[in-house]
Amino acid sequence: MNIEDIIKKSRMGEVLSYKELVYLLGLPPDSRETYRVMAEAAHLSRRLTDGKAEVHAQFAINFAPCPCDCLFCSFAKVNGIFNEATELSTEQAIAYVRQFETDGASAVFMMATANFAFERFIKISNEVRKAIRPETTLFANVGDQSSRNAVRLKDAGFSGVYHVVRLREGEDTALPVEKRIQSIRNFQEAGLDIGTCVEPIGPEHTNEELAEMIELTASFNPCFSGAARRIPIPGTSMSKRGIINEMRMAQIVAVTRLGMPESVIGNCTHEPCTLGAIGGANLFWAEVGANPRDIEEKTEEGRGGTVSSLKSIFEESNWNVWSGPTRYSQHNAGQ
Ligand code: SF4
Repeated sequence: MNIEDIIKKSRMGEVLSYKELVYLLGLPPDSRETYRVMAEAAHLSRRLTDGKAEVHAQFAINFAPCPCDCLFCSFAKVNGIFNEATELSTEQAIAYVRQFETDGASAVFMMATANFAFERFIKISNEVRKAIRPETTLFANVGDQSSRNAVRLKDAGFSGVYHVVRLREGEDTALPVEKRIQSIRNFQEAGLDIGTCVEPIGPEHTNEELAEMIELTASFNPCFSGAARRIPIPGTSMSKRGIINEMRMAQIVAVTRLGMPESVIGNCTHEPCTLGAIGGANLFWAEVGANPRDIEEKTEEGRGGTVSSLKSIFEESNWNVWSGPTRYSQHNAGQ
């Protein structure tokens, strides 16, 4: 296999094959070839977005011990980080979204733990939607849902949902892959965009697993895909598996870009970094409130970045930043 042929294929607008993805993922992160892959992915990302990256923002409306027990998540009951259940008031949720609007986030993601009462989530969402700017794009980040609940999310004013089949889903989590995929279908049938990602990547994941996951995310026809590394939660069993460095993450972000059709404009990474942006990421998230990668109840006092700090990371990486509602959502297409 030859890197020049693979790049030529990508430039012709073709999606790379599984074997080609495995080959690119297997290159040493600091090799000349990987820098070429990152350059190519960055060029493609810029071409698809007119050189303007986006900053979105997420807040959690609750935190609680979650029985789904995803080993990488600070909410997982088994990890024993959050032992009490707490939720925001509707006023606090509205205040977070208004702050993100003022800061210039292009979309706002409302997250809840998988066991949070769906009726309560819809009730708060309805109040939030009424109180914020009509043009603000809302995404939900919630647990698996039925078709009926997917329609209710759409009716509550969400444009899309962030939903992922996580690496080693069913092994490192208590959730079956089929259920995750069924939820994605339910959301799409309800008319919601799907944002997804290859995550949470650790040193143990093979190039074959990553390539399979890149292909799976492409098969959803998402509004964005991307790649994110796992952040070790101190004191948990999974933290012993370690962390990949930002360079390796940037390589995977770049390969993910080349594994998506050009109809998928967004290419996210988390946590935000210049190397990710240089590798072709054009979407970062600011975060406030509880965060599944943090042990602080308010991640703005811990790991979470602000809209402004993330814009700076893009600017340091020689990206311009889009201002206005996200162009990645099909509901906002043509802006
Ligand atoms: S990732 Fe979601 S489903 Fe898994 S433990 Fe955390 S809150 Fe629960």
